Amino acid sequence: MDGKFDNDIQAVVDADRAHVWHHLSQHKPYETTDPRIIVEGKGMRVWDQKGKEHLDAVSGGVWTVNVGYGRERIANAVRDQLIKLNYFAGSAGSIPGAMFSERLIEKMPGMSRVYYCNSGSEANEKAFKMIRQIAHKRYGGKKHKILYRDRDYHGTTIGCLSAGGQDERNAQYGPFAPGFIRVPHCLEYRAADQGAPVENYGEWAANQIEAVILAEGPDTVGGICLEPVTAGGGVITPPEGYWQRVQEICRKYDVLLHIDEVVCGVGRTGTWFGYQHYGIQPDMVTMAKGVASGYAAIACLVTTEAVFDMFKDDATDPLNYFRDISTFGGCTAGPAAALENMAIIEEEGLLENTTRMGHYMLDRLAELKDKHAVIGDVRGKGLFLGAELVADRATREPMAEKKVQMVTADCMAQGIIIGATNRSLPGLNNTLCFSPALIATKDDIDQIIEGVDAALTRVFG
Ligand code: PMP
Repeated sequence: MDGKFDNDIQAVVDADRAHVWHHLSQHKPYETTDPRIIVEGKGMRVWDQKGKEHLDAVSGGVWTVNVGYGRERIANAVRDQLIKLNYFAGSAGSIPGAMFSERLIEKMPGMSRVYYCNSGSEANEKAFKMIRQIAHKRYGGKKHKILYRDRDYHGTTIGCLSAGGQDERNAQYGPFAPGFIRVPHCLEYRAADQGAPVENYGEWAANQIEAVILAEGPDTVGGICLEPVTAGGGVITPPEGYWQRVQEICRKYDVLLHIDEVVCGVGRTGTWFGYQHYGIQPDMVTMAKGVASGYAAIACLVTTEAVFDMFKDDATDPLNYFRDISTFGGCTAGPAAALENMAIIEEEGLLENTTRMGHYMLDRLAELKDKHAVIGDVRGKGLFLGAELVADRATREPMAEKKVQMVTADCMAQGIIIGATNRSLPGLNNTLCFSPALIATKDDIDQIIEGVDAALTRVFG
């Protein structure tokens, strides 16, 4: 595909190198090499500034473009809506906002109200604020603590980092907000490192939450925020029985269950929402990335009617409403895109495809595990999968970051974009990540697996 783009692209690369501060990037290497610019996308594939084609196995780098690139139908709906009304915020609603909320709630039995904003971090902040406000309204401010889990990530703001379970992302950004309390992770592969029993690990891991609530005092704990399947912390699928026990514990101690579906939400795991695999009923759900597959910025905080009611029961109290706004929560492009995104998933049967292809990909990853001793564990749900690399299977010592990066770089050179949770501090971050678009075919998955196989052989022999 060399030569796909005209020569002006070098001016773009120069401007980028001179002025753009890239996310998640150490910039020193760009002094001698070109930054990568992604220019076009179609379906599962993107093209860079050199015209090189890449198969995108991570849906836009961070598990976002669920319905794939180049969806004219979404672009047209957004265009039409922008011409009609691009924006209005404050206390007014909008036509696409009302229509999408109705469609969304149809997919979320037991849930009722949709609060619009524009990033996963922002949605989570709003959930934290609601939990805090409920503590003030009902419990004199006492039941204000929010639990979060080791290895989970909830966003980039200081509030979200205060609830951040990935130490490498928090290092050097403290001090953090008080009142956020950590509970242990639930990664069965590393249960022994936690001193957990082999039997009934799910129940044991959930019981650690109860232990924290009891240690803190149940009358001080107002909410818990958890990813249904942990994403950046290592693609951690919950162990058997975990979620049911978590729900019981939340009910027992009157702790609001806030599920962060920013990654799992809207199809990624083969159901509309990740929590729906586990038969539980949250009080709050946040979502962002897949809601409009990156065609517009949109995030939602969805609550039950019971949570909503707490903010309207005394209309004479001037503080008794959610005193919060999101400026860009008033953009109509978000819900307009989200409506089409959801229609595409339904009309093309993408939940079913995700389940089918997810099983296929997990089987193919298991084959790779049989072949390569450096793969210690493979896991995932739907098209949200990980392969944890270890230096030694017996001790489960995490593979060195440099080696993991060599695998992702080799794949990139082959034209296959995969992810890795490896960061600079030791921990559980040694997992190759896969989250292809929900339209993935067997051929796409075979291409990804063959690329990873070749990369592992080249790096580790
Ligand atoms: N929650 C989870 C589980 C995430 O993975 C992320 C982003 N990677 C966020 C929240 C934050 O979302 P955003 O980057 O849109 O603020």
